[in-house]
Amino acid sequence: MPQAMPSGVGYIYVVSAALFILSLKWMNSPATSRRGVFAGEIGMLLAIAGTFLAFNVHNWTWIAAAFFIGTAAGIPIAYIMPMTAVPQRTALSHACGALAAALVGTAEFYQRQPHAAAELRGFVMVALIIETLLGFLTFTGSLMAMGKLQEVLPQRPITYRNQNFVNFTLFGIAVALAVRLALVPTDTFLFPIFAVLALLFGVLLIIPIGGADMPTVIAILNSYAGLSACAMGFAMDNKLLIIAGALDGSSGLILSIIMCRAMNRSFLNVLFGAFGQIQTRAGHVEKRPVRTATAEEAASILEAAGSVIIVPGYGLAVAHAQHKLRELSDSLSRRGVDVKFAIHPVAGRMPGHMNVLLAEADVPYDRLFEMDEINSEFAQCDVALVIGANDVTNPAARNDKTSPIYGMPILEVDKARTVMVIKRSMSPGFAGIDNELYYMDKTLMLFGDAKAFVTEILKELPARVGA
Ligand code: NDP
Repeated sequence: MPQAMPSGVGYIYVVSAALFILSLKWMNSPATSRRGVFAGEIGMLLAIAGTFLAFNVHNWTWIAAAFFIGTAAGIPIAYIMPMTAVPQRTALSHACGALAAALVGTAEFYQRQPHAAAELRGFVMVALIIETLLGFLTFTGSLMAMGKLQEVLPQRPITYRNQNFVNFTLFGIAVALAVRLALVPTDTFLFPIFAVLALLFGVLLIIPIGGADMPTVIAILNSYAGLSACAMGFAMDNKLLIIAGALDGSSGLILSIIMCRAMNRSFLNVLFGAFGQIQTRAGHVEKRPVRTATAEEAASILEAAGSVIIVPGYGLAVAHAQHKLRELSDSLSRRGVDVKFAIHPVAGRMPGHMNVLLAEADVPYDRLFEMDEINSEFAQCDVALVIGANDVTNPAARNDKTSPIYGMPILEVDKARTVMVIKRSMSPGFAGIDNELYYMDKTLMLFGDAKAFVTEILKELPARVGA
């Protein structure tokens, strides 16, 4: 039964909620993101302290044990996991958060049974049901997403006939049980069946989605976990949980909408379109001739340029080339070349992927430009240097109505005077389609691993200064 809070706790909760809101605002920009993380941490600390003050803690041992286990697991994960594995780490966090919400909901359901008639009626029971339904399905869904990203589960979409019908029937049964439980909360035997269906639905929801769509799915699951926490706040009459859950839920939803827009795909297409299947075409590699260049030739073109726009993509992350790229950018700047970085909103495999990598390599924020800011500059720029990016530069998105990425906003590198592309082969990117950019007369393909090739270019640059 929710108990009355000591009055001081309300103030702590207000400060904590304000810090959560500021945290989201500050995390919106690389320049203030550290402050945002710090504000979120302080907000969470206050929320925990306020909760301890608000409720009578019966057993500190369990809380201390959970605290130490969580800390012992969390610190190494934060240090050991590489930047390329952040999406799966985020999925793991969502799985843990969602499981916590679902278990709290389950505990409340059974704990309040003796007084079910008074305490599990109407709105409270509806909130508990939403909390557990979203919590359980987000738990298994996030674990599946993590497995696909970590490649311990098959990356390709697994589809079968009438799949959506099966999924929706299962979900329908879970909702029917939920309605029954909301009306008759003493039907306790239904609760485990309802919980198992929710867990199963989380698995089935993710199976037909391709591995590369997982970051968008994770943002959607993030919003489910937030909504589950929000429902928990209503069930337990905890205002801070309601606010924090709503912030989490809405920010996850907004992020997934931004990602879908940047890929020109609908929500439904991501969830039910089995998009990664297109990758089966990746086996087909175009045989048309392309122009190539060596590291020495690339160095002389870059050195002679007045302006260079660097376009990083997923391959930069794979090659861990961000530090070498920063060295290249510094070296060119010292030679008087105007160097800028163009960031596409879905370059890489998670939102902000390129910003995080380049920040890690200490590339100054003021050299990073969003797609809308920089697209008009390509036409005046001498060299567009594309490093491990593919789909986000593909002119087919603008010109070819039959292309699966038609309508996706792209970085207009094809408008630069010279285009240089560092990648290992003619293999396609995530969308599994050929890139017309590579066959243009102005394009030079620099075949090789991004880090190794940039290192080669760097070796050529000092030699030229001395010459
Ligand atoms: P792409 O997946 O289109 O292309 C990456 C390219 O990097 C490949 O063509 C590959 O070519 C090259 N590459 C891989 N490893 C290396 C290496 N070691 N050295 C050099 N090159 C390498 O990436 P983009 O960043 O251009 O586009 C992102 C794609 O991911 C978009 O289609 C987007 O919709 C999708 N996506 C993005 C999400 C996000 O949140 N950012 C979420 C979900 C999907 P090769 O093998 O020949 O080297």
